[in-house]
Amino acid sequence: MTATTGSAISSLLREPALIRDAAFVDGDWIRQGGDGTFSVINPSTGTEIAQLPALSREQTATAIDAANRALTGWRARSGKDRSTILRRWFDLVTEHADDLAAIITLEEGKPLAEARAEVAYAASFLEWFAEEAKRIRGDIFDAPLASRRIVVLKEPVGVCAAITPWNFPAAMITRKAAPALAAGCTMVVKPASQTPLTALALAELGARAGIPAGVLNVVVGSAGTIGPELTTNPIVRKVTFTGSTEVGRQLMQESAATIKKVSMELGGNAPVIIFDDADLETAVAGVLAAKYRNTGESCIGANRVYVQAGIYDRFAAEYSSRTTQLVVGDGFGDGVTIGPLIDAAGVAKVDEHVRDAVSQGARITAGGQPSSVGDLFYEPTVLTGVTQTMLIAREETFGPITPLIRFTDEAEVIRMANDTDFGLASYLFTRDSERVWRVAAAIEAGMVGINTGLISNEVAPFGGIKQSGIGREGSVYGIEEYLEIKYLSWEGSRDH
Ligand code: NAP
Repeated sequence: MTATTGSAISSLLREPALIRDAAFVDGDWIRQGGDGTFSVINPSTGTEIAQLPALSREQTATAIDAANRALTGWRARSGKDRSTILRRWFDLVTEHADDLAAIITLEEGKPLAEARAEVAYAASFLEWFAEEAKRIRGDIFDAPLASRRIVVLKEPVGVCAAITPWNFPAAMITRKAAPALAAGCTMVVKPASQTPLTALALAELGARAGIPAGVLNVVVGSAGTIGPELTTNPIVRKVTFTGSTEVGRQLMQESAATIKKVSMELGGNAPVIIFDDADLETAVAGVLAAKYRNTGESCIGANRVYVQAGIYDRFAAEYSSRTTQLVVGDGFGDGVTIGPLIDAAGVAKVDEHVRDAVSQGARITAGGQPSSVGDLFYEPTVLTGVTQTMLIAREETFGPITPLIRFTDEAEVIRMANDTDFGLASYLFTRDSERVWRVAAAIEAGMVGINTGLISNEVAPFGGIKQSGIGREGSVYGIEEYLEIKYLSWEGSRDH
C-alpha cells in the first residue's frame, strides 16, 4: 500500500484542510487515540488517504460526558435558534459541496457525480430539519374531569449515539444528526471506519456554523471498543443505527440493559416487480437506477428483479445491453458510472452470488466476473434464469449484479417478493392503477417505488419493516424519533 500524497489530495480539494486527521470531541480535535491509529484507504487505488486516532472506550465515555454537559444549554434554546444554526450548516455544506463530494469519492469510491448527488441529499436533511425545528408542538386536551386540562409537551430525548455505515458517508449522518439537533438532543456519532473523513468534514462545517462544543461529537476507531460504550453507558438515551441487520440486532441486545430507545435502519432485499403491461423504457431506466446507483451498494438497491413472462425476453435483452454500456473505473474518472466495491469481502460476496447462480443454471447476459480495472472492481452483471432458491435471491448482494427471475401471475410474484425476512424498499412497474393499489397493499415493505427506481428524498419517510428496521428517518415523522412525550395533568387549569 502506498500513501496518497498531500499534493495529490490538494489538487482534488479547494480546501484540503477539510480532511481532518483527528476525532472531534467537545469542540476539540483529538489527535491522540487511546487505542493507536488506523488507516483510511482509497478503494479505487488501495492507497492510504489518512491515519486517524483510534479512540479508547474511556475517550468515548468522555465524548458522551461532553454531549451530556452540552445538553442543558442546547435544549434550552428556542427551536428558532437551533433552526438558524442548522440552516447555516446547510449553507456551508452546500458551499463546500465539491470538496465534500471529493472526500466521499476518495474514501468510498463512488463516481464523483453520485458523490455530488449524495452531498445534495445529505444537505437536504439539514435544510428540512432546520425548518422542522421551528414546528415542534404538543397538544392540549379536555380531560374527563371538568376542572382539569391534559397538556402534552414534546421534549428532546437527550444524549443520542449514532452509528453509521460506509455506503452513504454523508447522508447517513445528516439524516440522524439534523433531526436530533433540531429536537434539542446532543449526539455522539461513530462513523464507519472505512469512511470517517466525510463525517469529520461535516463536523468541522457544523462547528463553523455555530453548533456549540459538545453538541455534536465524532468518535472514530474500532467498533468493538466504541460500540459497547455507546450502547451501555446510561447517559446515552437513544441509539440510532444504520447498517447490517446482524449488527443492529446486537446493538438492540446491548441497549436493552439500560432500556434505550432505538432506531434501526437495517439491511434490505428489495424486490422489483415488472408486469407485462409496464412501459419497457420506464422499467429498464428504473431498474438501472435502483440497481447500479452506488455500484449496487445500497440498502434500497434492487436485489431481486421479477419480470412477467410476456415482457421477460425483451426486458432482459434491453437491460443487458444497457448494462454493458456502464463504465467501470476510479470514481474521479470521466464518465465513470460504476466505482469499486468497498473491500475484498464485498467482491468475494458478489462473486460467490454469481458463481452460485451459474452453478444452478443461471445464464450470464452481461459482465459476470471481476473487472480488470483493479482489485475491488466487478463488472456490472446480468443473470437470467435465476430462481428463488439461489443465494442471490435470498441474501443482500450489495454489488452491481442484477438477477432476473421469471414469473407468470400476480399472486405468485407477491408470494415470492414477500418470501424474505427483510422489508425495506420494493418497486413495481405497471400501467394498471388498480394493480398498483392491490400490489402496493400486499407487499411487505416500508417503501414502494411505483414506476420509478429513485425513492429517497428528505420529504419521504425512509425506513423498513420486518428485519429491515424500526423507525423512520426524514419527513415530518423523522423528528419524532428524537422527541419524548411528557403529559401534564393540570388540576384547576380551567378554573381561571
Ligand atoms: P455494518 O457492518 O453493520 O456496519 C455499520 C456500522 O456499524 C459501522 O460504523 C461499523 O463500524 C459499526 N459496527 C460494526 N460492528 C459493530 C459492533 N459490534 N458494535 C458497534 N458498531 C458496530 O454495515 P456496513 O457493512 O457498514 O453497511 C452495509 C449494511 O448497511 C447493509 O446491510 C445495508 O443494507 C445497510 N444499510 C441500511 C440502510 C438503511 O437505511 N436501512 C442504509 C444504508 C445501509 P466499523 O466500520 O468500525 O466496523
